[in-house]
Amino acid sequence: MRRSLAPSKIGVLVEKRKNEENEEWQPKSKKQHSKQKALALYCPTEHLSPFRHQFTSVKPAIVLSDAASLSSHEELIKKILSKPFKVPIPNYQGGLSRALGVRRSGARQPLHDPHGEGALVLWAPQELSAHQQLKTDMEKYPVHVVVDPILSKVLRPHQREGVKFMYDCVTGVQIEDNYGCIMADEMGLGKTLQCVALVWTLLRQSPECCPTVTKVVIVCPSSLVKNWHNELSKWLGNRITAMAVDSGSKSEIDRNLGHFMSQCGRRTQFPVLIISYETFRLHAAVLHKGEVGLVICDEGHKLKNSENLTYQALTQLRAKRRILLSGTPIQNDLLEYFSLLHFVNKGMLGTALEFKKRFENPILRGRDADATDEDHRKGKEKLAELLAIVNRCIIRRTQALLTKYLPVKIEHVICCSLSGTQQALYQKFVASMLSRGESKRDTFSSLAAITSLKKLCNHPDLVYDKCVERAEGFSDSLALYPADYTTKVVKPELSGKVQVLDTLLALVKMTTTDKVVLVSNYTQTLDLFEKLCRQRGYQHVRLDGSMSIKKRAKVVESFNDPSSPEFIFMLSSKAGGCGLNLIGANRLVMFDPDWNPANDEQAMARCWRDGQRKPCYIYRLIATGTIEEKIFQRQTHKKALSSCVVDNEADVERHFSLGELRELFTLNQATRSDTHDKFKCQRCVNNIQVRGPPEGSDCNSDLSQWHHAADKKGLADVILKQAWGPAVTFAFHHKSHDQVKTV
Ligand SMILES: [Zn+2]
Repeated sequence: MRRSLAPSKIGVLVEKRKNEENEEWQPKSKKQHSKQKALALYCPTEHLSPFRHQFTSVKPAIVLSDAASLSSHEELIKKILSKPFKVPIPNYQGGLSRALGVRRSGARQPLHDPHGEGALVLWAPQELSAHQQLKTDMEKYPVHVVVDPILSKVLRPHQREGVKFMYDCVTGVQIEDNYGCIMADEMGLGKTLQCVALVWTLLRQSPECCPTVTKVVIVCPSSLVKNWHNELSKWLGNRITAMAVDSGSKSEIDRNLGHFMSQCGRRTQFPVLIISYETFRLHAAVLHKGEVGLVICDEGHKLKNSENLTYQALTQLRAKRRILLSGTPIQNDLLEYFSLLHFVNKGMLGTALEFKKRFENPILRGRDADATDEDHRKGKEKLAELLAIVNRCIIRRTQALLTKYLPVKIEHVICCSLSGTQQALYQKFVASMLSRGESKRDTFSSLAAITSLKKLCNHPDLVYDKCVERAEGFSDSLALYPADYTTKVVKPELSGKVQVLDTLLALVKMTTTDKVVLVSNYTQTLDLFEKLCRQRGYQHVRLDGSMSIKKRAKVVESFNDPSSPEFIFMLSSKAGGCGLNLIGANRLVMFDPDWNPANDEQAMARCWRDGQRKPCYIYRLIATGTIEEKIFQRQTHKKALSSCVVDNEADVERHFSLGELRELFTLNQATRSDTHDKFKCQRCVNNIQVRGPPEGSDCNSDLSQWHHAADKKGLADVILKQAWGPAVTFAFHHKSHDQVKTV
């Protein structure tokens, strides 16, 4: 801002300043008198530059005549004047970080102190003795690469290890001539933060005292684009400006991407591009034009099929360093291994054909039922060989690590009975669907039927319209609603689950200071929750898919503030609660199960995460003996197998035979929990758990290894104990870990 002056000019300036000071502080002359009077009232001199003249001489008469207006006006001015000096260029952060490459005399210096407290050193030069130093040109000697302390001070031990691992991989230290890796930490371990630390280091440092990379592309599902943007600014503030590209016209996107690619030099305006997979694929041509230093693919298991267009568009990106992030363990599928590894470290496993010959064929032959002992041995050997290669560039840690830092989480699966109205509607619907039989299968929309039943399990309100319309399966059902039925108010007693929810909420509200996150699959259910909240006078917020990032962040921040009045945060499990940090709440209700366990897990991880200080309580509600229990059973089953999602009619056709559909629809009214029945549980006698869960089990274990409760005895959560009523038929519960008491 201020240019340096030639020595001669400084002299002049000092002289001038002296004169001004003399004028001001020697108010002898009459001409100066009124000005001094005004100054005495204003007294703002301390805020003003001594180089500037006061402006108080303007109309002093008014200032002196009206005492009242003076005081308020004075306040205003004071306020303006007391604001700290601001650089008039938005986002200017001059001086925050040292520019690289500035030639300094003597030895080169690392950007951050490698010997500082808690310093995370990613690379260190060979130590030189004093004698060696004399013989070495220290101006060319490599320097330490040290993670910026603003980040290393927040990294946990496993995250430090992760950053180091990725750094070693992308710099070719881990495996010679290979510059990629897979970071497969489970959700909640801070994959994003580890990447932020790596990216920031690579953009600023290298042993050669210059950036390792100048441009980074982060590719992720479109629901996470904003999240990445927020995370970067959360950890790095204005040190970095990322370009997030998700929506806009084709030409606008092309222009932005073109700008990103054309940047060059050490300090680019937008060193990081965040882009969705789809946008990447559609605009790949622009991105293929130049080179980027590093590409990070979030939710990278999307790339397990090397045939798809996104995969191909990404492989063609000229990026030497590649990181794939995935929270889902890689299935024991050989081709999946191949495509993921081939993406990050091309050629490490040879071409697809070579891979087939070298690994896939012998391994599969060894697994074959008629395999000879020799085949078997060879297959095993080859698998071990493959894993040895693979494990050198994959890092995966589980959530078990987290429990060390987090408060206890108690998870419940609560089976809730249907109300009489629900039961009647359910049975009528199912009977009508099943009576149509095989011949009408083609007009029988299984997915629509499943959706209707799931909605009915939530509350009869959700299918009321269908009954009025006399839609398929509901044509004679209107009469099943109570005589005084109205959609104007929510009647919790018409649904077992809503009844349990309503009680839980009331107890939490009245007996604790806790906040609650409410999750459902259906916007219609969220509408119903809102109605209920209004009835009960609960302040609530609802995350809307259409909300801008800014608004979203604001809503979340406000909710997380313990002093804010919002009691409930509503979330759709589909609209991607992923990435949301709702640690202001320590209780979470999953009101209905999703087909895809990943969706539910994402939603459940909103509260029990970094920063949470209170014990957490998760309540998953499922309607006893209904389709929900069956979805839930499939879900837990699916966890063990490969994940598949039932999202469309074709999936339903693929996953369910007619017999299975019949099974799925049948209402089992005679049970407390269909799921528990299926376990043929040996630990329970006459609905009493006589033997506790096995040692070492926790809420990640299979439900058969949780606590089983047919009554409220033995529940760890006081709130559920009090809420336990006729609508609850059974509960599974377990905790995350035994908390070590810390003083
Ligand atoms: Zn049991």
